Amino acid sequence: MALEQNRKVALITGVNGQDGSYLSEFLLNKGYEVHGIIRRASSFNTSRIDHLHVDPYAHKGGRFHLHYGDMTDSSCLVKIIGRIKPTEVYNLAAQSHVKVSFDLSEYTAEVDAVGTLRLLDAIRTCGLENTTKFYQASTSELYGKVAEVPQNEKTPFYPRSPYGEAYNMFACNGILFNHESPRRGETFVTRKITREVAKIHLGLSQCLELGNLDSKRDWGHAKDYVEAMWLMLQQESPEDYVIASGETHSVREFVELAFRHVGKEIVWEGKGTEEVGKEKDTGVVRVRINSKYFRPTEVDLLLGDASKAKAKFNWSPKVTFHELVKDMMKSDIELMQKKSHG
Ligand code: GDP
Repeated sequence: MALEQNRKVALITGVNGQDGSYLSEFLLNKGYEVHGIIRRASSFNTSRIDHLHVDPYAHKGGRFHLHYGDMTDSSCLVKIIGRIKPTEVYNLAAQSHVKVSFDLSEYTAEVDAVGTLRLLDAIRTCGLENTTKFYQASTSELYGKVAEVPQNEKTPFYPRSPYGEAYNMFACNGILFNHESPRRGETFVTRKITREVAKIHLGLSQCLELGNLDSKRDWGHAKDYVEAMWLMLQQESPEDYVIASGETHSVREFVELAFRHVGKEIVWEGKGTEEVGKEKDTGVVRVRINSKYFRPTEVDLLLGDASKAKAKFNWSPKVTFHELVKDMMKSDIELMQKKSHG
């Protein structure tokens, strides 16, 4: 019985994503058995977690397992949960790209909203609602046109978990502000910038095209944020938490820092879609605006207040904004070097 109580078995949906891969590493290091759900796809989609299979440390004792499944298929979720009986479920599976959610709105709702319900229902169907803790990846985007700055847990559109209330489940929403890393998807603005600046540095590209340069985001490092997910589930009671760096920076600033990392100073000229970013020393145009990257509706400013997480479980981010840009630049320069030689 004691053994049963000490079981540490995590199930992660979206395990092959940025957060899923960092969380898997984190939990394996804490001694967990980690199960991940991945979708069957015709091309390989596990590059972020492949090292966990080959890593003898993780592989020893077979503590990392992958299962095929899909957030749109309830019966597979019930089967997986019934079999592995997870003590913690981290629901990170989502169509998380904002622009794509305009284009594929029904699919996004099907996976992100109904998918979450299916997963919660699967836990109940398996009779685990009193033992399995549930982490839901929520989003700072739900603040939309923000009502106050900085946003905290009380800012309007306070997310509530019906499952937490109706079934007394241990279910938490983590309201994570933007979190980036070298593993960030390539279409998110930070990664797009670091990849392109790395290419420009290596002479593999000339110019970077972006949308709204003046949009501001609260950017942290994903590695810090997955620790907060785990901490939320280790508390006495389930609560929602904002996880953020508490700083906001513009896309423009991110661009400037990324270029500075490779020794290029950028100066801006012109206005609106005619604006360009030039290399100060040579006058070569390195940044242009392309209106296809503008959003139908834009969230101009995000700035989070994570003081509740700090107060309750002493979480604060370790990686600064400068270090984040540096980490991503360093990794993308190495990646582009490998690519150009391979
Ligand atoms: P989001 O906060 O989840 O939408 O994360 P993104 O990284 O996709 O976008 C962050 C901000 O960068 C948004 O305000 C975008 O409008 C802005 N942005 C400016 N240019 C681009 C671009 O070329 N691609 C993306 N993805 N975002 C851009």
